[in-house]
Parts: sequence; C-alpha cells; structure tokens
Amino acid sequence: MQVKSAMTKSHTSPRPVHGKRIEDTIMDLLEEDPNQESQLISKLELSHPHLKDRSLLYSTVLKVLTSLELIESEAMDVWHAVLENQTKLSECLKRPVGFRVALLDFFTNQNQKIKNPKIIELRLYSETEKLILVDELTRLYNRRHFETALLREFKQSTRYNLNLSLLIIDIDDFKKINDTYGHLMGDEILKQIASKISTSLRMEDTACRIGGEEFAIIFPQSNESQALKAAEKLLEACRTIQISGKPVTISGGLVSYPEKVKRCEDMYDLADRALYTAKDTGKNQIIVYSNEKRSSLRFETNLELFCVLPNKTIRSISKNISITGIAFETEDDLSLNDSIPVLLRESDSNHEINAKIKVVRKQKIGEKSYSVGAEFVELSNESQTKLADLYLLHQFKAKSPMGAVV
Ligand code: GH3
Ligand code: MG
Ligand code: MG
Repeated sequence: MQVKSAMTKSHTSPRPVHGKRIEDTIMDLLEEDPNQESQLISKLELSHPHLKDRSLLYSTVLKVLTSLELIESEAMDVWHAVLENQTKLSECLKRPVGFRVALLDFFTNQNQKIKNPKIIELRLYSETEKLILVDELTRLYNRRHFETALLREFKQSTRYNLNLSLLIIDIDDFKKINDTYGHLMGDEILKQIASKISTSLRMEDTACRIGGEEFAIIFPQSNESQALKAAEKLLEACRTIQISGKPVTISGGLVSYPEKVKRCEDMYDLADRALYTAKDTGKNQIIVYSNEKRSSLRFETNLELFCVLPNKTIRSISKNISITGIAFETEDDLSLNDSIPVLLRESDSNHEINAKIKVVRKQKIGEKSYSVGAEFVELSNESQTKLADLYLLHQFKAKSPMGAVV
C-alpha cells in the first residue's frame, strides 16, 4: 500500500504500472529534456514495460501536452501527422522546428481542435490545475475532479472489462460535533478523516471531498467484495479518531460496476442511496447497494437459521427477513460472496425453509460477533410461498391488538 495524496496526482488514468502514474513519468521526462517530445513514446515503453496497450501512450502524452481528450486511435494518427508536420516545417524554415511548435500548428491551423490557445509553462499549468481540483482544507480532490475522474474511470472499465467501485462516505452526527466543540474542531476532524482516507487507500484509488462532510472514493479494478474490505478498513481507521474519548464514526454507501450498476450516471445516486440506508439503519456502517426490493416485504422475525459450511453447521437467529435476503448475527467470520446452503426454521409453526444465501454485508459488532446481511441466491417457489405465509402471519400478529397467535 502506498500513501497517495491529491498533490502527487493530477489525473486518474491510465492505470499506474508498478506504482508510478504515466502522467507523472511524462512530466518528469519533459522536465529532464523538454525538447525530446518525439522520443517520449519509446522512453515510456521502456519505463512501463508491462503496459499492454501502446496506443494509450499517444493519447496520454497528447493529453498532458494539450489537455485534449483524444480517443486512442485518433491520438496515434495525430501523433504521426505532427511528426510529419515537424519535418515539413523544419525543411521550409531550414532550421529545426520543435515538436510542440508543430503540434500547435497542427491543432490551430490544420484540424482546428484548438481555436484560441494560451502558451504557459507546463509546471505552472499543472500547479494551477491542482489548485482548481484540490480542496483547500483536506488536500483531497474536490467535486469537480470527482466527476471527471469517475467518468474517465468508468470509460476505462467498460473498455477494458474491469471492475469499478464507488464509495460515498459521510461523517455521522457531524453537526453535533460542530455544535458541541466548535467549527474549528469540526475542521480538524475533517482533516483527520481525510488523512485516514489518504493513508488507507491504494495509489490508484481516488479520494475526493465532494461536500461539507461527505467524501467519495473511486476504487478502480475492484469488485464489490474487494472494495467492501477497503471500506471496512477505512471505517475502522476513522474510529480511531476520538473526541472526549468517543470515536468519530462514518457511514458509507458502496456500489460496484458491473455487479450492480451499468451506467456511470447512476453510480453516485445508487451509492448515495446505500449511504442513506446506512444512516437510516443505525449509522457507523457500510452498506452495499443492492438492486433488490427488500424493504417492501422485509419483516422482523426470529427464525432459527442453520448455515451449512463445509466443515460445520452454525446456528443463528434471524433479525429480519424478506423474499430477497436475511439479516442475522453470528460469531463466525463468514466469507463475503460465498454461497452457503441454509435451513430456516420457525418454531411456532414448524415451518422449514431450505435455501442458499450469499453474504453481501458483514460488520464486526463485538470482539467475536458479526452482523451479517445475505441475499438469497436460491429460493425455490415452495420456499418463497412459505416465506410469504410467514410474512402474512407476522402481519396478522402485528395488527392483532392482543398479539394473537393463530
Ligand atoms: P448525519 O449523521 O445524518 O450525517 O448527521 P450530520 O449531523 O452529520 O449531518 P448534517 O447534514 O445535519 O450536518 C452536517 C454539518 O456539517 C452541518 C454543517 O454546518 C457542517 N459542515 C459542512 N461543511 C463544514 C466545514 O467545512 N467545516 C465544518 N466545521 N463543518 C462543516
Ligand atoms: Mg453527516
Ligand atoms: Mg452530509
């Protein structure tokens, strides 16, 4: 794991190869030798030998030099056209003409993608860009960067068939912290949370402050369970921040592509919806967005639950259940995403339901105790009917003034 702060990173793609981001290598190479742009591609290939897609280098170098977003095939054509232009200009003027002069001529006089250029030192531009994209208080990226970074990562993920997860977190009861300890203490807590975020992430993750006490973290190449592990780790880390001996807690909503979301524009909304559920069901937890419609049929009920693991069967009691999933507590550290055969038993009515579940949420709630959320991955029609019967029974009991038992 490497510590990443916004000040060392200006974009989010392409993927860093062995730690260093390609944009940073490009900046360093240009710093070393500003007049050798035409050799950048071969130098980059040497410094990033494992990069599979060479065409990505052309668009990245041109992005650093011009801030234009070009698709890879177009970037490669432009690159060669500029080299040709450089040769022609040098021949006409009978003296060497730089690559960037040829590049400017190409974009302004030939394909006219740039109409009104401004010439500025690259380093100065990059520092100014950071000022625009970085939140002053926390030094994390701001909302403006978040939106472009998420879109860029999403395009990259769909193009190369990669996973992508988004976590939105919000500090719990932050208004109370401000009201009790003052705004300055509130600011200090924001800085400390940001620092925990920065230190607990991988180099390729992008952390942003997107609102007052709301943060977003983009996890490229991470599926739901990998991102959930990182999010839980972050939750733990934030709890170590204390005011008057009490831990500061956060809540989070997580959504993953392609598991639960198909379109970039839905990612934030769905993660936010999961965050809302996290707040609504007790705070201090991460909730994974699920496209199930559990809430409409969910009911509190204490059924006996037997989980049949390869080496043992564990017994637990359900907290609530719906046609799509179940919540329970257990002392066993169940693995996320494992498919587990289960038997559910209702002692009063002797109802028995066989199913298979998949653990989608797990939160440590004590020394040796976990709160678990699981989806039904196999639930026969017969079992669904039994569950619906239980639901009706539950509704009837809840409505009966005497708590009648049928
Ligand atoms: P919840 O657990 O539901 O998230 O409750 P909350 O109190 O955290 O949320 P609420 O939205 O009611 O309050 C957020 C507070 O954050 C209100 C606002 O004054 C404060 N805030 C927003 N930006 C800043 C900031 O930059 N510094 C400080 N100190 N406070 C801020
Ligand atoms: Mg809050
Ligand atoms: Mg908030």
